[in-house]
Amino acid sequence: MAYDFDLFVIGAGSGGVRAARFAAGFGAKVAVAESRYLGGTCVNVGCVPKKLLVYGAHVADELEQAAGFGWTLEEGHFDWGTLIANKNREIERLNGIYRNLLVNSGVTLLQGHARMTGANEVEVEGQRYTAEHILIATGGWPQIPDIPGKELAITSNEAFYLKELPRRVLVVGGGYIAVEFAGIFQGLGADTTLLYRGDLFLRGFDGSVRTHLKEELEKRGLDLQFNADIQRIDKLEDGSLKATLKDGRELIADCVFYATGRRPMLDNLGLENTGVELDARGYIRVDEQYQTTAPSILAIGDVIGRVQLTPVALAEGMAVARRLFKPEQYRPVDYQNIPTAVFSQPPIGTVGLTEEQALEAGHKVQVFESRFRAMKLTLTDIQEKTLMKLVVDAETDKVLGCHMVGPDAGEIIQGLGVALKAGATKQQFDETIGVHPTAAEEFVTMRTATR
Ligand code: FAD
Ligand code: NDP
Repeated sequence: MAYDFDLFVIGAGSGGVRAARFAAGFGAKVAVAESRYLGGTCVNVGCVPKKLLVYGAHVADELEQAAGFGWTLEEGHFDWGTLIANKNREIERLNGIYRNLLVNSGVTLLQGHARMTGANEVEVEGQRYTAEHILIATGGWPQIPDIPGKELAITSNEAFYLKELPRRVLVVGGGYIAVEFAGIFQGLGADTTLLYRGDLFLRGFDGSVRTHLKEELEKRGLDLQFNADIQRIDKLEDGSLKATLKDGRELIADCVFYATGRRPMLDNLGLENTGVELDARGYIRVDEQYQTTAPSILAIGDVIGRVQLTPVALAEGMAVARRLFKPEQYRPVDYQNIPTAVFSQPPIGTVGLTEEQALEAGHKVQVFESRFRAMKLTLTDIQEKTLMKLVVDAETDKVLGCHMVGPDAGEIIQGLGVALKAGATKQQFDETIGVHPTAAEEFVTMRTATR
């Protein structure tokens, strides 16, 4: 049967655009449908605008440090409207770049919501298209627990478009987004409280990293409240919000920001017409080659709920394009040792196993840990400490994990990701000449095991 397209991609986000462009480059006839914004979550309401706001908040640190270097500055004033307008302009520029990337690679771009009407058929804006393969790359969506007053809360989607910086913010959650936005709000001057339901935030990260970040955030005056969860939210007469906690306490704020995870975006996707099944967590079930339970339909990115990071969605998109249209170049995605950063203030960089994971996996573990005040701060009164940690297999000498909390942690950890992928040993770290004077050199000069 002749199809309209070889590949029909639903969603022009990180994974969808990558798969579409490369499939077209390999000679396939490709369409992409996008209902909301080109570039998806990362470009519009994720990584990119988030990092721009983090830069904005970080300026406060630079201003605080300036006096130590002899600079006298007039009292600064921050304008939220300017930051958001400039951010929006940059996002629009990126939307245009994504459009050109797709169109120039010969992809047919369809604007509108896509719904599958069969295992080889998609409907967009009343028009039906057939395709040999369909790729679901519809990403995720923030979810707020079902509590009274949840409609009064916002998520990251709305935070990027607030008209004003709220004076008092309650951030709920203890994952990437909560920690990053707590830093943004506080850095820009809002009175910020982070509420997390467990004993310590960032579950799954290395224990030393979690404790260190907690201490540093508290030094900065962030109000961290653990074992705390909101039961209901009410609007008061003056327009402010009252959050009643499960322990009965009441907190007043101008904004309640929820970052309690994301669900797969499956709304009105027509799964019922296709034979595509979900896994136990509600994400699309795929095999190791991203094929769903319907043989003509594949899925990648946040909607399969493996690792919700842009570079992972990109790698999966590439793998699908190759598998379908350039099988001789197909390589499976390596989910081991994925480096990642949390753009908190100070940021976290991490790759490989945490100490806890290494022990659990049965390794005999040697830990090298260093805490120091960064050189840049020595001319200032700021007492922030940087943490660096290596988790090493005592029997093979292989470095199993590298963890950092401190300035530029994301930049530093990327290179260490290559070292871990290459299977570097602690001895090879030790034999690597440091770059002096940098913070990063500490990773190759930690000689004595702390435990
Ligand atoms: P998405 O990028 O979400 O794209 C899905 C697209 O599909 C969207 O454009 C959507 O509109 C479209 N769509 C959905 N349904 C339909 C339909 N039925 N028809 C047509 N179109 C549809 N990751 C990092 O690596 N680093 C970071 O710093 C980082 N920061 C983040 C910050 C925030 C606040 C958030 C929310 C996420 C962040 N992420 C970060 C995660 C990253 O954004 C995602 O992992 C990534 O965007 C997933 O890509 P995807 O292709 O699966 O989906
Ligand atoms: P996460 O899954 O990382 O964190 C969710 C947090 O909310 C956890 O602390 C969780 O607690 C808590 N939580 C979940 N449900 C509830 C509930 N019902 N009540 C109270 N608290 C709850 O999700 P995020 O929303 O922070 O981010 C989504 C994903 O996006 C991340 O996992 C990451 O993959 C990606 N991302 C990546 C970034 C980066 O690379 N820098 C930045 C931002 C996002 P508990 O731990 O107890 O379950």
